[in-house]
Amino acid sequence: MSVTGPDVGKATLGLYPLELYEPLIGRAATDRILSKAARARGAHIVHVSSTFYGGGVTEILTPLTLMMNAVGIETGWRLIQGTPTFFHGTKKLHNALQGEMIEFSPADRLIYEEVVFENSTRLHLSEFDAVIVHDPQPLPLVAHFPGRAMPWLWQCHIDLTEPNGAIWNYLRRFVEQYDAAILSLPEYAQDLAVNQHFITPAINPFSAKNAEMSDDAIRDCLTLHRVPTDRPLVVQISRFDRWKDPMGVIEAFHKVREQVDCTLVLVGSSASDDPESSIVLETVMQSIDERVIVLTVDDPLLVNALQRRAAVILQKSTREGFGLTVTEAMWKGAVVVGGDVGGIRRQIRDGYNGFLVRTVDETAERIVQILRDPRLRERLGAQARESVRQNYLLSRLLEDWLDLLAGYRLRARM
Ligand code: UDP
Repeated sequence: MSVTGPDVGKATLGLYPLELYEPLIGRAATDRILSKAARARGAHIVHVSSTFYGGGVTEILTPLTLMMNAVGIETGWRLIQGTPTFFHGTKKLHNALQGEMIEFSPADRLIYEEVVFENSTRLHLSEFDAVIVHDPQPLPLVAHFPGRAMPWLWQCHIDLTEPNGAIWNYLRRFVEQYDAAILSLPEYAQDLAVNQHFITPAINPFSAKNAEMSDDAIRDCLTLHRVPTDRPLVVQISRFDRWKDPMGVIEAFHKVREQVDCTLVLVGSSASDDPESSIVLETVMQSIDERVIVLTVDDPLLVNALQRRAAVILQKSTREGFGLTVTEAMWKGAVVVGGDVGGIRRQIRDGYNGFLVRTVDETAERIVQILRDPRLRERLGAQARESVRQNYLLSRLLEDWLDLLAGYRLRARM
C-alpha cells in the first residue's frame, strides 16, 4: 500500500519544508513567508500541551513545530504530566468552557493547581525566548514564572461561544497573567485585560492522513479494516466525545436508511487527556446495528481512505472550536455535513462547499440529498477543496504565527 504526495521523500521524513507548498500557494507566498521567518531565525520557542496523542492540538503541533524548525526557528514541544484525577478535572474545565454548567470544587482546584505547579518545577521554561501554552490543562503554569523576561502566550482551541461564567472567571486570573490570549475565531473574543489574537487552525496536506492516495491504496486500506464498500459510506471521524454528538449521528443515519441504503462508519481513537471517551463509546455500542461500523483504531491512512471514499462526511458537533476533521475531509473533495456551530460555521459556507445543520432531521435530509445527487457531491466537493487551499493549509498558519511573534519582543533577539 502506498501513499503518494507531491514530494513523498521529504514529506515522509517529516521535514515538510515550505518549498513543498509552492505548487499549492505559489512562489510569491513561499518567498514572503521565508522572509518573515528570517526575522525570527535563531529564536528558541517552546509549545506546552497535555498530550502527544489524539485530538486537534496534537494534529496541529506535530507539523507546525517541524515546520518552524525547518525555517530556522528552534521550536520545542513539552508535555505536562498528570494523574487521571487531574485529567478528569481538566476535562471538566474543557466542558465548562464549551458552556456546560458544572462545578469545579475547591478540591478540583487544589489538584489542578498543584499538578501544574509540579510541572512548572520540572519543565524549566525560563530558558526559552517565548513560551506558548495550549488549552486549559497547563494554563496556570504562567503563575510560577512571575519575573519572566520572555513573552508567554496562551492559545485556546476550544469553542468559547458561551463559556460557563463562574469557571471562566476562575480561569481568567491565569489568562490575564499571559502577554496575550490566542483564540480560533474573533467570535470567541472575551472581556480580557490582555491582548487577544485570532488564529484559525490548518492542516498539513503532506501527512499520511492528508496526502494523495491511489484508488488501490484506498481499497486495500478499507479491506484491511473490514469496512464494507458494497453500499455508500456515511462517515464521522471523531473522538468519542458527547460534543461530537455520535448519538445524533446514529439517529440521523436510521432516518436516512428509511429512504436510502447505506453504511455508517464511526471512527474514534481516544486522546490520552480525555477520560470521558470510554463512557461515550459504551453508549454508542449499545445503539448500533449491522449497518453501523464502529472502529476504534488509530490509523491516519484509514482516516485518509475513508474521507476520500465516503459519499458523505459528517461532523455533527454541538460545539467545535474549529473542526480539523472538517478541513481534512474538504481537502479531499468530500461533502461535509457539519453542525452549525463554532468554527464549522467558518469552515463551511452552507450550500456552497458543504452543508450546515442544526437538527437530526436536517442532517438526515442533507445526507439523503447528497446520496441521491452525485453531481452535487462533485460540485460542492471541488469548492470545498479550493476553500481549503486558499485558507486552511499549514503554510498560512505558519505565516500567522510569524506575524504574531513579530509583535512581541522575543528575549534573545528582535
Ligand atoms: N482523529 C484521528 N482518528 C480518530 C479521531 C480523530 O486521527 O479516530 C484526528 C482527526 O483526523 C483530526 C483530529 O484527530 O486531525 C481531531 O481534531 P478536531 O479539531 O476535529 O477535534 P478535537 O479532537 O480537537 O476536538
